[in-house]
Amino acid sequence: MPVLDTLREKIRVIPDFPQEGIAFKDITPLLASPDAFHATINSFAERYAGHGVDQVVGIEARGFILASALAYKLKAGLMLVRKQGKLPAETLKTSYELEYGADEMEVHRDAAAPGSRVVLVDDVLATGGTICAALDLLQRLQCEVVEVAFLIELCFLNGRERLQNHQIFSLLQY
Ligand code: AMP
Repeated sequence: MPVLDTLREKIRVIPDFPQEGIAFKDITPLLASPDAFHATINSFAERYAGHGVDQVVGIEARGFILASALAYKLKAGLMLVRKQGKLPAETLKTSYELEYGADEMEVHRDAAAPGSRVVLVDDVLATGGTICAALDLLQRLQCEVVEVAFLIELCFLNGRERLQNHQIFSLLQY
């Protein structure tokens, strides 16, 4: 079976979580599978190897899981974009809307030197609100965004349209 089909089999769809009408893409079965987790990180790593990535940017919380493994594999640094109030040093802040709800996210002001080459990673691209906010922070840090990578893209929500100035990559599309 092709690798992507085996990964797709490990995504569990939970209807009406965390609220009615949301088909939640649960990645924990994929993370629990040694083969699927390994194949996921390797797919990203093969794509970004040799691109001079300085930092991989993880979006709290599930993005951290993928971003940290990828950063390790690429021998890049790991940058954390976190929900409000979690980062201890001086931060830049931005607000954003979710498929369900709204929130604020932050990054440390000194998280990257201007001109750093970064890849952003998150588990799911839904409406694109989260990643737009993260991109705003990275622009303010004067980072150069190589690409934005997702394990899953919910194509019917057209998140990609909000990200037209950036290269977007997803392993699995729904
Ligand atoms: P959005 O800002 O709408 O693109 O939402 C993306 C963020 O919300 C990601 O960090 C996901 O972890 C989470 N998310 C949104 N929709 C879903 C979904 N249907 N299943 C799993 N996670 C989701």
